[in-house]
Amino acid sequence: MDATLDRIALPAGTLLFDEGDAGLCAYLINKGRLEIFLARDGRDVVLATRGRGEIVGEIAVIDSRPRSASARVIVDCELIVITAEQIAHRIAETDPILRMCLGVAVAKYRDTLAMLDDAKARLAPRYGGSASGDDFRAALGTLSLESELRRALQNDEFELFFQPIVCLPTRRLAGFEALLRWRHPARGLVLPGEFIPIAEASGLIVEMTPWCLAQVGRVFPAVRAAALQNVDAVDPVFISVNISAHDLARPTFVGLMATMLETSGLAPSDVMLEVTESVLLKTKAITALKACRKLGLNIAIDDFGTGYSSLSSFSTLPITTIKIDRSFVRSMTQEPASRKIIHMILRLAEELDIPVVAEGIEHPHEERELADFGCAFAQGYLFGRPATLDQTLALTRAWRLPSQARLSKIATGKTAMRA
Ligand code: C2E
Ligand code: CA
Ligand code: CA
Repeated sequence: MDATLDRIALPAGTLLFDEGDAGLCAYLINKGRLEIFLARDGRDVVLATRGRGEIVGEIAVIDSRPRSASARVIVDCELIVITAEQIAHRIAETDPILRMCLGVAVAKYRDTLAMLDDAKARLAPRYGGSASGDDFRAALGTLSLESELRRALQNDEFELFFQPIVCLPTRRLAGFEALLRWRHPARGLVLPGEFIPIAEASGLIVEMTPWCLAQVGRVFPAVRAAALQNVDAVDPVFISVNISAHDLARPTFVGLMATMLETSGLAPSDVMLEVTESVLLKTKAITALKACRKLGLNIAIDDFGTGYSSLSSFSTLPITTIKIDRSFVRSMTQEPASRKIIHMILRLAEELDIPVVAEGIEHPHEERELADFGCAFAQGYLFGRPATLDQTLALTRAWRLPSQARLSKIATGKTAMRA
């Protein structure tokens, strides 16, 4: 077992905690067995026993009230301590609806114990299990947004926007990222930051992604055709789509991609799936990504540098592109550490022969610096904001490379170049 874990060994017969004690920690049982009991009228009423792989003492830690029963070791135990702070931190981080469910479950447990124990029931203040005002409001907000999202799917209120991705330093148009927008009937255009996290938490994302993919298949061939007419665009331009871990866990995902390619006529190499580093920790997702790669699709790690992917993962995972998170680009000029991280990522990518897209380029000096570092692609407001399909078609037709004169000015930083 991990030597860094805080653990205790207790012989049979030891009282771990007594009814009424403060709940300072819970215990994960690694070895042995305990019994949970109430001492009543001179005898012990055993409520349950717990063994390896189970937790004891969690109730009082969760609701910060005194222990509802006592616990005694019946077979020599090895226990791993989970502190109240560790539990409180996780509860605070969790979804407010789950937090409410947990509160209710704990309250029900307490009430049931109190009912079993009549005398105690009369004395004990009843714990209603009501959530804090903040949790209640957050839970209501989440639930109502979730039902609105279901309605929005049925009413076709979603729309795909497209943001250009350009080659550095020539600025040829290389591709687009598809970004979801919600045209809310009352609130207007809602950005994905407001609804994607809830769509992911509720599982609704697995209905939204197929819609996005179908929409890409329907509309992107027209953008691609427009780019074919423009010598300042790469032939062919690619389309990048954001995919969540929930999508990749579905057994139907790879088939969905194959169908989209077949019905749209897009080549697999024209399509890139963007996944975040956390996705790469999930076995099912990796299997699906490998199958997608076999289909010929490209796979990008999105927001690279913000997660925990180990560099070794690159040798085993089917990654074809790295997207550097815009937070590094944003702070590149002020923080030497960000510049160093960008350098490191670009060097690593070069070693592995993986092209890099830098995100969030807003200023010419950022573009210049990244081009100097050897970054292959860039995306950001400097080149174009996410735009509707019509605007994207117009932009694709009108895309022009900067003249040589302007390019040399960019190189010396004398102009804020516009595409
Ligand atoms: P992302 O995948 O990192 O997408 C890039 C985000 O950065 C987009 O925000 C884009 O508008 C924004 N951005 C691009 N260039 C600049 C710039 O120069 N400056 C600044 N400040 N921002 C820039 P958006 O469209 O609000 O999307 C936010 C996130 O929502 C996306 O981050 C992605 O994680 C998620 N998302 C968007 N569409 C989808 C989708 O269809 N499916 C899934 N699963 N997630 C999506
Ligand atoms: Ca993305
Ligand atoms: Ca990103």
